[in-house]
Amino acid sequence: QNQWDVIIVGGGAAGIACCASLLKRRPDLAIAIVEPSDRHYYQPAFTLVGAGSFEPAATCRSTASLIPDGAKWVRSRVTVMDPAQQRVGLDDGQSLYYRALVVAPGLELNLGAIEGLEATLGSNGVSSNYLFELAPYTWECVSQLRQGRALFTQPPMPIKCAGAPQKAMYLSCHHWEQRGCLKDVDVQFHNAGGVLFGVADFVPPLMEYVKRYQAHLNFNSQLVAVDGGARQALFRDTDTEGASHDRYEDFDFLHVVPPQRAPRFVRDSELANDAGWVAVDEATLQHPRFDNVFSLGDACGASNAKTAAAVRKQAPVVAENLIAMLADKPLTARYEGYGACPLTVEKGKVVLAEFGYQGVLQPSFPLNPTVARKSMWWLKAKAMPRIYFDLMLKGHEWLAKPARL
Ligand code: FAD
Repeated sequence: QNQWDVIIVGGGAAGIACCASLLKRRPDLAIAIVEPSDRHYYQPAFTLVGAGSFEPAATCRSTASLIPDGAKWVRSRVTVMDPAQQRVGLDDGQSLYYRALVVAPGLELNLGAIEGLEATLGSNGVSSNYLFELAPYTWECVSQLRQGRALFTQPPMPIKCAGAPQKAMYLSCHHWEQRGCLKDVDVQFHNAGGVLFGVADFVPPLMEYVKRYQAHLNFNSQLVAVDGGARQALFRDTDTEGASHDRYEDFDFLHVVPPQRAPRFVRDSELANDAGWVAVDEATLQHPRFDNVFSLGDACGASNAKTAAAVRKQAPVVAENLIAMLADKPLTARYEGYGACPLTVEKGKVVLAEFGYQGVLQPSFPLNPTVARKSMWWLKAKAMPRIYFDLMLKGHEWLAKPARL
Protein backbone atom coordinates (compact mmCIF):
# COMPACT_ATOMS: atom_id res chain seq x y z
CA GLN A 1 0.00 0.00 0.00
CA ASN A 2 1.44 3.39 -0.85
CA GLN A 3 -1.56 5.73 -0.34
CA TRP A 4 -2.26 6.98 3.19
CA ASP A 5 -4.56 9.44 4.92
CA VAL A 6 -1.63 10.63 7.01
CA ILE A 7 2.09 10.04 6.73
CA ILE A 8 4.17 10.90 9.78
CA VAL A 9 7.89 11.40 9.17
CA GLY A 10 9.76 10.28 12.30
CA GLY A 11 8.77 7.98 15.15
CA GLY A 12 10.42 9.90 17.98
CA ALA A 13 8.63 11.80 20.72
CA ALA A 14 6.71 14.01 18.30
CA GLY A 15 5.80 11.42 15.65
CA ILE A 16 4.47 8.82 18.10
CA ALA A 17 2.65 11.35 20.33
CA CYS A 18 0.96 12.97 17.33
CA CYS A 19 -0.02 9.60 15.85
CA ALA A 20 -1.60 8.55 19.16
CA SER A 21 -3.49 11.85 19.41
CA LEU A 22 -4.78 11.48 15.83
CA LEU A 23 -5.97 7.90 16.35
CA LYS A 24 -7.62 8.82 19.62
CA ARG A 25 -9.80 11.27 17.68
CA ARG A 26 -10.15 9.32 14.42
CA PRO A 27 -9.34 5.59 14.84
CA ASP A 28 -10.38 5.04 11.21
CA LEU A 29 -7.48 7.05 9.72
CA ALA A 30 -4.91 5.11 7.69
CA ILE A 31 -1.62 6.36 9.17
CA ALA A 32 1.94 5.36 8.30
CA ILE A 33 4.87 6.33 10.53
CA VAL A 34 8.16 6.32 8.61
CA GLU A 35 10.97 5.66 11.10
CA PRO A 36 14.32 3.99 10.32
CA SER A 37 15.39 3.13 13.86
CA ASP A 38 14.17 0.11 15.84
CA ARG A 39 15.18 1.96 19.06
CA HIS A 40 13.33 4.89 20.60
CA TYR A 41 15.08 7.04 23.22
CA TYR A 42 13.72 9.06 26.11
CA GLN A 43 16.38 11.75 25.69
CA PRO A 44 15.43 14.01 28.64
CA ALA A 45 16.93 11.37 30.97
CA PHE A 46 20.34 11.44 29.21
CA THR A 47 21.28 14.33 31.53
CA LEU A 48 20.59 12.11 34.54
CA VAL A 49 22.53 9.21 32.99
CA GLY A 50 25.49 11.58 32.67
CA ALA A 51 25.25 12.18 36.42
CA GLY A 52 24.95 8.53 37.42
CA SER A 53 21.33 9.08 38.48
CA PHE A 54 19.44 7.06 35.84
CA GLU A 55 19.88 3.63 34.26
CA PRO A 56 20.93 4.04 30.60
CA ALA A 57 18.80 1.06 29.54
CA ALA A 58 15.67 2.68 30.99
CA THR A 59 15.93 5.50 28.41
CA CYS A 60 15.49 3.10 25.51
CA ARG A 61 12.53 1.06 24.24
CA SER A 62 11.87 -0.78 21.01
CA THR A 63 10.11 1.30 18.37
CA ALA A 64 7.79 -1.66 17.67
CA SER A 65 6.46 -1.51 21.24
CA LEU A 66 5.55 2.19 20.92
CA ILE A 67 3.85 2.37 17.51
CA PRO A 68 0.17 3.00 18.36
CA ASP A 69 -2.27 0.20 17.53
CA GLY A 70 -3.88 0.94 14.20
CA ALA A 71 -0.84 2.71 12.70
CA LYS A 72 1.60 1.10 10.27
CA TRP A 73 5.35 1.36 10.92
CA VAL A 74 7.32 1.77 7.67
CA ARG A 75 10.89 1.01 8.65
CA SER A 76 12.65 3.35 6.27
CA ARG A 77 14.20 6.79 6.02
CA VAL A 78 12.54 9.67 4.19
CA THR A 79 14.97 11.22 1.71
CA VAL A 80 12.66 13.55 -0.24
CA MET A 81 9.46 15.46 0.49
CA ASP A 82 7.53 16.54 -2.59
CA PRO A 83 4.54 18.52 -1.28
CA ALA A 84 3.20 19.44 -4.72
CA GLN A 85 2.73 15.73 -5.51
CA GLN A 86 1.75 14.88 -1.88
CA ARG A 87 4.56 12.36 -1.91
CA VAL A 88 7.53 11.34 0.21
CA GLY A 89 10.44 9.36 -1.22
CA LEU A 90 12.17 6.70 0.88
CA ASP A 91 15.78 5.54 0.93
CA ASP A 92 14.83 2.23 -0.74
CA GLY A 93 13.47 4.13 -3.76
CA GLN A 94 9.78 3.67 -2.84
CA SER A 95 7.29 6.54 -2.89
CA LEU A 96 4.40 6.97 -0.47
CA TYR A 97 1.46 9.34 -1.05
CA TYR A 98 -0.63 11.18 1.53
CA ARG A 99 -3.66 13.37 2.10
CA ALA A 100 -1.88 15.01 5.06
CA LEU A 101 1.77 15.04 6.10
CA VAL A 102 3.25 15.46 9.59
CA VAL A 103 6.96 16.31 9.55
CA ALA A 104 8.63 15.22 12.81
CA PRO A 105 12.14 13.87 12.14
CA GLY A 106 13.82 15.75 15.01
CA LEU A 107 17.11 17.54 14.44
CA GLU A 108 20.64 16.63 13.43
CA LEU A 109 23.69 16.90 15.69
CA ASN A 110 26.33 18.57 13.53
CA LEU A 111 29.39 16.88 15.02
CA GLY A 112 31.46 17.68 11.92
CA ALA A 113 31.19 21.41 12.65
CA ILE A 114 33.79 21.00 15.42
CA GLU A 115 37.11 19.93 13.96
CA GLY A 116 38.53 16.79 15.55
CA LEU A 117 35.43 16.09 17.64
CA GLU A 118 34.23 12.87 16.00
CA ALA A 119 37.69 11.33 16.26
CA THR A 120 37.90 11.83 20.01
CA LEU A 121 34.32 11.68 21.36
CA GLY A 122 34.09 8.89 23.89
CA SER A 123 37.82 8.97 24.70
CA ASN A 124 40.44 11.34 26.12
CA GLY A 125 37.90 12.74 28.59
CA VAL A 126 35.65 14.13 25.82
CA SER A 127 31.95 13.31 26.14
CA SER A 128 28.45 14.53 25.36
CA ASN A 129 25.14 13.80 27.07
CA TYR A 130 23.51 14.43 23.68
CA LEU A 131 24.36 10.90 22.55
CA PHE A 132 22.85 7.82 24.19
CA GLU A 133 26.12 5.89 23.78
CA LEU A 134 28.15 8.64 25.47
CA ALA A 135 26.07 9.77 28.46
CA PRO A 136 27.49 6.87 30.57
CA TYR A 137 31.02 8.01 29.59
CA THR A 138 30.20 11.49 30.97
CA TRP A 139 29.50 9.88 34.31
CA GLU A 140 32.65 7.75 34.08
CA CYS A 141 34.76 10.88 33.50
CA VAL A 142 33.01 12.97 36.16
CA SER A 143 33.15 10.29 38.82
CA GLN A 144 36.88 9.71 38.18
CA LEU A 145 37.97 13.35 38.09
CA ARG A 146 39.47 14.65 41.33
CA GLN A 147 41.33 17.72 40.11
CA GLY A 148 42.17 19.63 36.94
CA ARG A 149 40.12 21.59 34.45
CA ALA A 150 36.59 20.74 33.32
CA LEU A 151 35.11 22.54 30.31
CA PHE A 152 31.40 22.60 29.43
CA THR A 153 30.31 24.02 26.09
CA GLN A 154 27.10 25.42 24.62
CA PRO A 155 26.77 26.00 20.84
CA PRO A 156 24.73 28.72 19.09
CA MET A 157 20.94 28.47 19.45
CA PRO A 158 18.65 26.84 18.61
CA ILE A 159 19.42 23.52 20.25
CA LYS A 160 17.18 20.93 21.83
CA CYS A 161 16.78 21.49 25.56
CA ALA A 162 18.71 24.75 25.79
CA GLY A 163 19.34 24.17 29.49
CA ALA A 164 21.05 20.79 29.04
CA PRO A 165 24.60 22.18 28.55
CA GLN A 166 24.54 23.87 31.95
CA LYS A 167 22.63 21.01 33.59
CA ALA A 168 25.64 18.79 32.85
CA MET A 169 27.85 21.36 34.59
CA TYR A 170 25.70 21.74 37.72
CA LEU A 171 25.34 18.00 38.27
CA SER A 172 29.07 17.43 37.76
CA CYS A 173 29.92 20.25 40.17
CA HIS A 174 27.50 18.92 42.74
CA HIS A 175 29.19 15.54 42.58
CA TRP A 176 32.65 17.10 43.02
CA GLU A 177 31.30 19.22 45.87
CA GLN A 178 29.99 16.12 47.63
CA ARG A 179 33.35 14.37 47.11
CA GLY A 180 35.14 17.38 48.59
CA CYS A 181 37.22 18.03 45.46
CA LEU A 182 35.31 20.87 43.80
CA LYS A 183 37.94 23.37 45.04
CA ASP A 184 40.54 21.46 43.00
CA VAL A 185 38.56 21.55 39.76
CA ASP A 186 38.68 24.64 37.53
CA VAL A 187 35.16 24.70 36.02
CA GLN A 188 34.65 26.73 32.84
CA PHE A 189 31.39 27.19 30.93
CA HIS A 190 31.90 28.32 27.32
CA ASN A 191 28.68 29.64 25.82
CA ALA A 192 28.50 30.70 22.16
CA GLY A 193 25.63 32.98 23.19
CA GLY A 194 25.58 36.01 25.43
CA VAL A 195 23.20 34.97 28.24
CA LEU A 196 23.12 32.13 30.75
CA PHE A 197 19.46 31.28 30.03
CA GLY A 198 17.07 32.77 27.48
CA VAL A 199 14.26 33.52 29.96
CA ALA A 200 15.51 36.27 32.30
CA ASP A 201 13.40 35.21 35.34
CA PHE A 202 15.50 32.06 35.72
CA VAL A 203 18.92 33.68 35.54
CA PRO A 204 19.15 34.82 39.24
CA PRO A 205 18.57 31.34 40.75
CA LEU A 206 21.00 29.83 38.23
CA MET A 207 23.62 32.48 39.06
CA GLU A 208 23.43 31.43 42.71
CA TYR A 209 24.54 27.96 41.68
CA VAL A 210 27.21 29.33 39.36
CA LYS A 211 28.64 31.21 42.37
CA ARG A 212 28.26 28.30 44.76
CA TYR A 213 30.15 26.00 42.38
CA GLN A 214 32.69 28.73 41.50
CA ALA A 215 32.12 28.10 37.81
CA HIS A 216 33.56 30.66 35.39
CA LEU A 217 31.24 31.88 32.64
CA ASN A 218 32.73 32.64 29.22
CA PHE A 219 30.10 34.22 26.99
CA ASN A 220 30.38 34.57 23.19
CA SER A 221 32.93 31.79 23.28
CA GLN A 222 32.39 28.96 20.80
CA LEU A 223 34.16 25.60 20.65
CA VAL A 224 35.59 25.20 17.13
CA ALA A 225 38.15 22.39 17.42
CA VAL A 226 39.30 19.65 19.77
CA ASP A 227 42.59 17.79 19.95
CA GLY A 228 41.75 14.88 22.23
CA GLY A 229 45.26 13.43 22.42
CA ALA A 230 46.73 16.78 23.44
CA ARG A 231 43.69 17.48 25.64
CA GLN A 232 43.28 20.90 24.12
CA ALA A 233 40.15 22.71 22.97
CA LEU A 234 40.10 25.69 20.64
CA PHE A 235 37.57 28.44 21.34
CA ARG A 236 36.60 31.36 19.12
CA ASP A 237 35.71 34.35 21.31
CA THR A 238 33.80 37.30 19.91
CA ASP A 239 34.23 40.69 21.60
CA THR A 240 31.70 43.52 21.89
CA GLU A 241 32.93 45.08 18.62
CA GLY A 242 32.30 41.79 16.79
CA ALA A 243 35.99 40.96 16.36
CA SER A 244 36.91 37.34 17.00
CA HIS A 245 40.06 35.81 18.39
CA ASP A 246 41.01 32.22 19.06
CA ARG A 247 42.38 30.75 22.26
CA TYR A 248 43.37 27.27 23.38
CA GLU A 249 42.32 25.79 26.71
CA ASP A 250 43.78 22.64 28.23
CA PHE A 251 41.27 20.26 29.76
CA ASP A 252 41.00 17.10 31.80
CA PHE A 253 37.31 16.73 31.02
CA LEU A 254 35.37 18.29 28.15
CA HIS A 255 31.58 18.07 27.91
CA VAL A 256 30.56 19.08 24.39
CA VAL A 257 27.13 20.07 23.13
CA PRO A 258 27.42 20.01 19.32
CA PRO A 259 25.80 22.60 17.03
CA GLN A 260 22.40 21.48 15.79
CA ARG A 261 20.40 21.92 12.61
CA ALA A 262 17.44 20.53 10.70
CA PRO A 263 18.03 17.22 8.88
CA ARG A 264 19.32 17.67 5.33
CA PHE A 265 16.16 16.39 3.58
CA VAL A 266 14.22 19.07 5.49
CA ARG A 267 16.72 21.85 4.75
CA ASP A 268 16.68 20.89 1.06
CA SER A 269 12.88 20.71 0.79
CA GLU A 270 10.31 23.27 -0.29
CA LEU A 271 8.89 23.07 3.22
CA ALA A 272 11.90 24.72 4.89
CA ASN A 273 12.02 28.27 6.22
CA ASP A 274 15.12 30.45 5.77
CA ALA A 275 16.88 28.79 8.70
CA GLY A 276 16.21 25.30 7.32
CA TRP A 277 13.50 24.23 9.81
CA VAL A 278 9.98 23.30 8.70
CA ALA A 279 8.04 26.55 8.20
CA VAL A 280 4.85 26.65 10.28
CA ASP A 281 2.28 29.07 11.56
CA GLU A 282 3.26 29.61 15.23
CA ALA A 283 -0.31 29.07 16.48
CA THR A 284 -1.69 26.29 14.25
CA LEU A 285 1.58 24.47 13.35
CA GLN A 286 0.31 24.30 9.77
CA HIS A 287 2.66 25.01 6.88
CA PRO A 288 2.07 28.54 5.51
CA ARG A 289 1.85 27.40 1.87
CA PHE A 290 0.91 23.70 1.92
CA ASP A 291 -2.31 23.43 3.96
CA ASN A 292 -2.07 19.66 4.32
CA VAL A 293 1.40 19.78 5.92
CA PHE A 294 1.98 20.19 9.68
CA SER A 295 5.11 19.96 11.79
CA LEU A 296 5.97 19.57 15.46
CA GLY A 297 8.94 18.60 17.60
CA ASP A 298 12.54 19.66 17.12
CA ALA A 299 12.34 19.95 13.29
CA CYS A 300 9.49 22.44 13.48
CA GLY A 301 10.39 26.07 12.84
CA ALA A 302 8.17 27.61 15.55
CA SER A 303 10.11 29.76 18.01
CA ASN A 304 9.35 27.68 21.12
CA ALA A 305 12.02 25.88 23.18
CA LYS A 306 12.77 22.56 21.47
CA THR A 307 11.75 20.08 24.18
CA ALA A 308 9.69 16.93 24.70
CA ALA A 309 7.56 19.12 26.96
CA ALA A 310 6.72 21.25 23.92
CA VAL A 311 5.75 18.11 22.00
CA ARG A 312 3.29 17.18 24.77
CA LYS A 313 1.35 20.39 24.02
CA GLN A 314 1.93 20.42 20.25
CA ALA A 315 0.66 16.90 19.53
CA PRO A 316 -3.03 17.57 20.37
CA VAL A 317 -2.88 20.88 18.46
CA VAL A 318 -1.59 19.20 15.29
CA ALA A 319 -4.03 16.29 15.68
CA GLU A 320 -7.07 18.55 16.09
CA ASN A 321 -6.09 20.95 13.30
CA LEU A 322 -5.08 18.24 10.84
CA ILE A 323 -8.42 16.48 11.31
CA ALA A 324 -10.27 19.77 10.79
CA MET A 325 -8.24 20.37 7.62
CA LEU A 326 -9.12 16.88 6.27
CA ALA A 327 -12.80 17.65 6.89
CA ASP A 328 -12.49 21.03 5.16
CA LYS A 329 -13.39 22.82 8.40
CA PRO A 330 -11.66 25.84 9.99
CA LEU A 331 -8.73 25.07 12.27
CA THR A 332 -9.57 25.42 15.95
CA ALA A 333 -6.56 24.59 18.15
CA ARG A 334 -3.85 27.03 19.18
CA TYR A 335 -0.33 26.29 20.41
CA GLU A 336 0.97 29.00 22.73
CA GLY A 337 4.63 28.08 22.55
CA TYR A 338 4.84 26.05 25.76
CA GLY A 339 8.17 24.41 26.48
CA ALA A 340 9.83 23.33 29.70
CA CYS A 341 13.33 22.89 30.95
CA PRO A 342 13.84 21.17 34.29
CA LEU A 343 17.14 22.73 35.38
CA THR A 344 18.91 20.13 37.50
CA VAL A 345 20.93 22.50 39.67
CA GLU A 346 21.97 19.78 42.10
CA LYS A 347 21.35 16.05 42.51
CA GLY A 348 17.95 16.12 44.17
CA LYS A 349 16.79 19.63 43.21
CA VAL A 350 15.34 21.16 40.06
CA VAL A 351 14.29 24.65 38.97
CA LEU A 352 11.38 23.87 36.65
CA ALA A 353 11.41 26.51 33.90
CA GLU A 354 8.11 26.46 31.98
CA PHE A 355 7.44 29.19 29.45
CA GLY A 356 5.81 29.99 26.13
CA TYR A 357 6.50 32.26 23.17
CA GLN A 358 8.55 35.37 24.04
CA GLY A 359 9.53 33.79 27.36
CA VAL A 360 6.12 34.30 28.98
CA LEU A 361 6.05 32.10 32.10
CA GLN A 362 3.53 29.24 31.93
CA PRO A 363 3.89 27.39 35.26
CA SER A 364 1.86 24.20 35.68
CA PHE A 365 1.91 24.43 39.48
CA PRO A 366 0.85 27.26 41.85
CA LEU A 367 4.40 27.67 43.18
CA ASN A 368 7.19 30.17 42.57
CA PRO A 369 8.85 28.55 39.51
CA THR A 370 12.24 30.16 40.10
CA VAL A 371 12.88 28.18 43.31
CA ALA A 372 14.92 24.95 43.24
CA ARG A 373 12.75 22.18 44.66
CA LYS A 374 13.06 18.52 45.64
CA SER A 375 9.52 17.90 44.37
CA MET A 376 10.57 19.00 40.88
CA TRP A 377 13.53 16.59 40.94
CA TRP A 378 11.05 13.83 41.73
CA LEU A 379 8.89 15.02 38.83
CA LYS A 380 11.90 15.01 36.48
CA ALA A 381 13.52 11.74 37.57
CA LYS A 382 10.53 9.59 38.50
CA ALA A 383 7.25 10.98 37.16
CA MET A 384 8.26 12.42 33.77
CA PRO A 385 9.54 9.19 32.20
CA ARG A 386 6.20 7.56 33.06
CA ILE A 387 4.19 10.54 31.86
CA TYR A 388 6.16 10.33 28.60
CA PHE A 389 5.83 6.62 27.90
CA ASP A 390 2.44 5.89 29.50
CA LEU A 391 0.52 9.10 28.78
CA MET A 392 2.09 11.29 26.08
CA LEU A 393 3.03 8.50 23.66
CA LYS A 394 -0.38 6.87 24.22
CA GLY A 395 -2.44 9.95 23.34
CA HIS A 396 -3.55 10.74 26.91
CA GLU A 397 -3.39 14.49 26.81
CA TRP A 398 -2.47 15.20 30.45
CA LEU A 399 -2.55 18.97 31.10
CA ALA A 400 -2.31 19.43 27.34
CA LYS A 401 -5.78 20.59 26.32
CA PRO A 402 -5.18 23.00 23.42
CA ALA A 403 -6.17 26.67 23.65
CA ARG A 404 -8.76 27.87 21.12
CA LEU A 405 -7.91 29.97 18.10
P1 FAD B 1 13.30 12.86 18.37
O1 FAD B 1 12.66 12.39 19.63
O2 FAD B 1 14.78 13.04 18.34
O3 FAD B 1 12.84 11.86 17.23
C1 FAD B 1 13.11 12.07 15.85
C2 FAD B 1 12.89 10.75 15.15
O4 FAD B 1 12.92 10.96 13.73
C3 FAD B 1 14.00 9.73 15.47
O5 FAD B 1 13.41 8.53 15.92
C4 FAD B 1 14.72 9.57 14.15
O6 FAD B 1 15.22 8.25 13.96
C5 FAD B 1 13.64 9.90 13.13
N1 FAD B 1 14.18 10.37 11.85
C6 FAD B 1 15.28 11.13 11.64
N2 FAD B 1 15.47 11.31 10.32
C7 FAD B 1 14.47 10.65 9.69
C8 FAD B 1 14.13 10.47 8.32
N3 FAD B 1 14.89 10.96 7.34
N4 FAD B 1 13.03 9.74 8.02
C9 FAD B 1 12.25 9.22 9.01
N5 FAD B 1 12.54 9.35 10.33
C10 FAD B 1 13.63 10.07 10.65
N6 FAD B 1 13.14 17.75 26.60
C11 FAD B 1 12.38 18.03 27.70
O7 FAD B 1 11.17 18.23 27.57
N7 FAD B 1 12.93 18.09 28.94
C12 FAD B 1 14.24 17.83 29.16
O8 FAD B 1 14.70 17.87 30.29
C13 FAD B 1 15.06 17.52 28.03
N8 FAD B 1 16.38 17.26 28.20
C14 FAD B 1 17.13 16.85 27.14
C15 FAD B 1 18.45 16.51 27.35
C16 FAD B 1 19.24 16.04 26.32
C17 FAD B 1 20.66 15.68 26.58
C18 FAD B 1 18.67 15.89 25.02
C19 FAD B 1 19.49 15.34 23.90
C20 FAD B 1 17.34 16.26 24.79
C21 FAD B 1 16.56 16.75 25.83
N9 FAD B 1 15.23 17.13 25.65
C22 FAD B 1 14.46 17.47 26.74
C23 FAD B 1 14.70 17.34 24.29
C24 FAD B 1 13.78 16.23 23.77
O9 FAD B 1 14.39 14.98 23.89
C25 FAD B 1 13.44 16.53 22.32
O10 FAD B 1 12.94 17.85 22.22
C26 FAD B 1 12.38 15.57 21.78
O11 FAD B 1 12.88 14.26 21.76
C27 FAD B 1 11.93 16.00 20.39
O12 FAD B 1 11.14 15.03 19.78
P2 FAD B 1 11.22 14.78 18.19
O13 FAD B 1 10.27 13.66 17.92
O14 FAD B 1 11.10 16.05 17.46
O15 FAD B 1 12.71 14.27 17.96
